[in-house]
Formats: sequence, structure tokens, C-alpha cells
Amino acid sequence: VERCAYVAGCDGVSTVRAAELLGIEPSGTIPHSLVLLLGSATEALRAFDEVIERKFPRVALVDTFGDEKFESLEAAAALENPPAAVRLDTPASRRGDFGEILREVRWELDTHGYGGVGIFVSGGIDEEAILELNDFAAGYGVGTRIAGAPPVDFALDIVEIDGDAIAKRGKESGRKDLLRCESCRRRIIVPAETEERLCECEGRFDELLEPLVSGGERAAAAPQLADIRTHAASEIAGLGLSIC
Ligand SMILES: [Zn+2]
Repeated sequence: VERCAYVAGCDGVSTVRAAELLGIEPSGTIPHSLVLLLGSATEALRAFDEVIERKFPRVALVDTFGDEKFESLEAAAALENPPAAVRLDTPASRRGDFGEILREVRWELDTHGYGGVGIFVSGGIDEEAILELNDFAAGYGVGTRIAGAPPVDFALDIVEIDGDAIAKRGKESGRKDLLRCESCRRRIIVPAETEERLCECEGRFDELLEPLVSGGERAAAAPQLADIRTHAASEIAGLGLSIC
């Protein structure tokens, strides 16, 4: 899950072992347990600041006991330098209009001279919430909506044996090519080696399939994680979406 999230554009992962396996630095913020153990958001922030290496940004968790606005202002003033961000992890049951809460926190931070303190949001965040909160939130922590995302249905089927097209009921036999129009990005499936390569929009079709295994051997070296990430970003750009 962490690898897919990172490949698809998330900036980092918070599971330490996953980050080690990916060869990246794990990232995360103060947990509620630290605030509960130390008794307040500012005490937790000060303890974090005291022992965590400087290269990691200070992000104060501000909704454990009190109001988001007042705990944000306290956290912003708690250290010698203001923290990089405050994090709101408010459960949906306490939120009301979450966009309105963020707007208020942003306003108060700006008014008190903490324009450089960002707002980081987590807790039940999905793609719809992100679109609504983007005006005020500088970053998001997303868990369930990625870890529990609906699967894309797929199957592996034999469709050809020794050059003869054959497949089970409900499946189309014969090798196929997956083509994508370089211009309108429409994708079509055609019998392998079809010569027709022109889309109805007059764009040219590119072949998307590449052999992975040939004669029992890997056909090409596995791409590097960074290259897969760059490729994913370019594919998303082609959908008319964007990641920052
Ligand atoms: Zn086209």
C-alpha cells in the first residue's frame, strides 16, 4: 500500500518499515498518544522539538483536548521559532463545517503574525474533502481512503496456445494490443499486430504493452522507483488532473 501511494504521488509514508523498504525517509507528525501522555499539545510539541533532529519539520497536533483555533495559536507561540504547521485531525463527529474551521484557524494564525505556519489535515480525508479544503490546507495525511481503496478488477487468462487462439467462456481469445491515442488519450484493445494505428481524432495510436517475461527470463531490468513515480505523474498529467 505504501509503495503504491508513493508511486502515485504521495510525498511520503509514515510506516517506518515501509519507508525503509522503499529506500525513502519516513515522515510523520506528533501522535495523539504523546499529547495524552504529556497532558497538552504544547508540552508534546516542546518534547518533540527537544529530541527530534532539526531536519524534520515541527508539526503541532492541535485538537486532542481543546479548540482548534486556540490550540493552534498556543502551538504557534510555543517554540522559539513557529512550527512548520499545525495539524488538525478532528474526528468527523466533532467537525461541523470543517472548511469553516480551517478558514477560521487560517485567519487567526495570519492575524497573529503566523502566516508562515501551514495547516496540515488528517482523519477521514478523501479526494472530495481535499478538493473542498485546498484553499486552507497545505498538506494532508490520508490513511483509510488509500489503504482501503476499492480494487481495480483484473484477471489473468490464457488466450492463445502455441499460436492458436483459445480462451474460456466469456473471454476473448487471441493475443491483443492495448493502444492509446497520443492526442485524445482514448484507449482501445485490438487483435495483436493490427496495422490500423489512426484514431478517429486523427491522432496516432501508441502501443502500451511491453513484454515483461520472455523465455522464462525477465525481458528488461525493473525500473527504479523514482522513474515509476515520474511516469505515474506524467500519466496523471495526461488525465487533466495534477499533483503538486
Ligand atoms: Zn484520438
